[in-house]
This record gives sequence, C-alpha cells and structure tokens, in this order.
Amino acid sequence: MSLQAGLSVWTSRFLDVVFPPSCAACGRDGVWFCAECLNLIESVKRDPCRACGSLKLEHECPADYSRAILQGLSAIGFYHDPRLRKLLHGLKYQYAACLLPTVGDLLRRYKNLRSQPWPWVGESALALQAVVGSPKRIRMRGFDQAEKIRDLVKQELLPWAQTVSLLSRDSSVEAQADLKPGPLRQANVRGVFCVGAQFIAPDVVVLIDDVFTTGSTMLEAARALKSAGVKRVYGLVLAIGA
Ligand SMILES: [Zn+2]
Ligand SMILES: [Zn+2]
Repeated sequence: MSLQAGLSVWTSRFLDVVFPPSCAACGRDGVWFCAECLNLIESVKRDPCRACGSLKLEHECPADYSRAILQGLSAIGFYHDPRLRKLLHGLKYQYAACLLPTVGDLLRRYKNLRSQPWPWVGESALALQAVVGSPKRIRMRGFDQAEKIRDLVKQELLPWAQTVSLLSRDSSVEAQADLKPGPLRQANVRGVFCVGAQFIAPDVVVLIDDVFTTGSTMLEAARALKSAGVKRVYGLVLAIGA
C-alpha cells in the first residue's frame, strides 16, 4: 500500500470514529451512501443534445447544432434526481473521500445499464481531461472533485485512455456556482481556461465534470482545447439538467 493510500485509509477510519457515517441521501446509519439509494439513482437512457444539453430528442435547439463545439455529450444521471444531487453535493462540500467509492460504484452500474454506444466509439486514442475547478475552491477543499471524478472514469469506464492536465483556470474569476444561470454566467467563463504552451495537443479529448446545467463552463473548456489544436472534444458528466 502506498503512503498516500495508507493515509487515506487512516483518514477515513479516523472520520468514521469522529463522525459516524450515515447515508448522504437517506440518513441511514453505518454507510456514507447506501446500496438502496444508489440503486434508485435513475440512469440517463439516451445521450443529451451535444449542442445544448437538452434531453428531449425533438427540441428547438437554442445553439447552432451544425457548429456544436462538442462531438458528443453523455451523462450518467439527472441533476433533478435528489439522491444524485445529494451525492454530488456531499462530494463537493463534505466527506469527499468517503463518497468517492460511491461514484465508482455509480459508474460501474451505469456501464452495465448503458444501451447505446459511447459517442467516442471508433476513436483510437482518448485523453481524459477534467473541467478544472476554480483555484480558490480547490484551495478551500484541498482537492478538485472534477479531477477525482476523471480518475474514477478512467478506472471504471476507460482504462485504456490517458489522463491529461492540459487546462488551467484563471483564478480571478468567480466559481460558476456562485452566479445565477444566464448571460452573466456565460460572460463569466469567457476566456477563463487556457492550455499551457508546453503541451502538445492530443487529437481527441473527453472532458469530464460533475454537472452540466447551462453548459457554459464545459463549452468554454472545449473551446480552449480546440483553439490549442485538439481536433475533437467529447463531454461526460455525472449529472445533466437544471
Ligand atoms: Zn440511503
Ligand atoms: Zn440542442
């Protein structure tokens, strides 16, 4: 066992003693997220619109579909699902290390339930990039949850893909969650990501994040990757919708 793994086991045992676990969704004692709640998280049956994130097949797409920046977009569950929402909230604000194994379980379960091919099927090489959080938030939490999710996606869904850290985020810009959805959010993320000049752009990147609501953050990250020379960008999120 590595020192880091040893420490994280020790930390989680310590937390179990000081803060006895209870399910983040239903409050049941003894676990951080119970199997019943995990099984009740509804899976997305069909990939959302890659231009606007709509889950409806027939919809008036507010975006220019022909010029959509993402090559494909997939989501595991729905943001309005109270259990998934509680999992994501817990991951962000409390007991993150304790809830990460549940995200791994969620991805494994989804892999078995998914009925359509992944949008990136046919790509010979994939680079997995997290939609990095704001440096202020990362400092507050001590970790970036998007990167943790990215690592679990590699472990559970795409072991053959390579993980990359090409993007950096401007620290002077507020976190999106602090702003109401709307034009302010879009303007807030414009130009917020950049790709370091030292990187050689991979051809294909899958961008990974916890949530896609307005999509402005993910689309901006995709734009930055494309202007750095990435040819095709796909998106994968744990939850979609408002
Ligand atoms: Zn529960
Ligand atoms: Zn659309």
